[in-house]
Amino acid sequence: MSAYPRAECRVCGRDSALNADEQVRPHKGRTGTGLLVSGRCPGSGRPPKGEPPCDEDCGRKAGRMCWPEVYDPALPHASAYVCYDPEHQAEAAAWVKSKTGHEGVFVGRQAVARV
Ligand SMILES: [Zn+2]
Ligand SMILES: [Zn+2]
Repeated sequence: MSAYPRAECRVCGRDSALNADEQVRPHKGRTGTGLLVSGRCPGSGRPPKGEPPCDEDCGRKAGRMCWPEVYDPALPHASAYVCYDPEHQAEAAAWVKSKTGHEGVFVGRQAVARV
C-alpha cells in the first residue's frame, strides 16, 4: 500500500502516485502508442487527469477559464484559474468542456477585476 493517493497522469493516462501537493509524481514518458520516450513524462509534477491544469507552480495567473461566462444557476458551471501558458489555457478550456459540455471561455485578469 502506498502512503500517497493515486490518480491518472493527464498526459499519458498512467496510474501514478501523487505527491503531497496532489501532483503526479515524476515518471517516464510514453508516446501515444505506449513506447517509452527519453526523459520524464510532461505530466510529471502536474495536477492529475480530471483536474484543472494550473496550480501554484504555474506562477502568475492570467485570468480564468470558465463556462458560462456569466454564471447561470440553471446551467452546469465550471471555472478555473489559468496562467499565461497557452497550452495550459487550452487544457483548461478542455477541462471546462469535460465538466459542462462547452469549451471554456477565457476571462482575462482585468475583466475579472472589474466584476
Ligand atoms: Zn504521464
Ligand atoms: Zn498553468
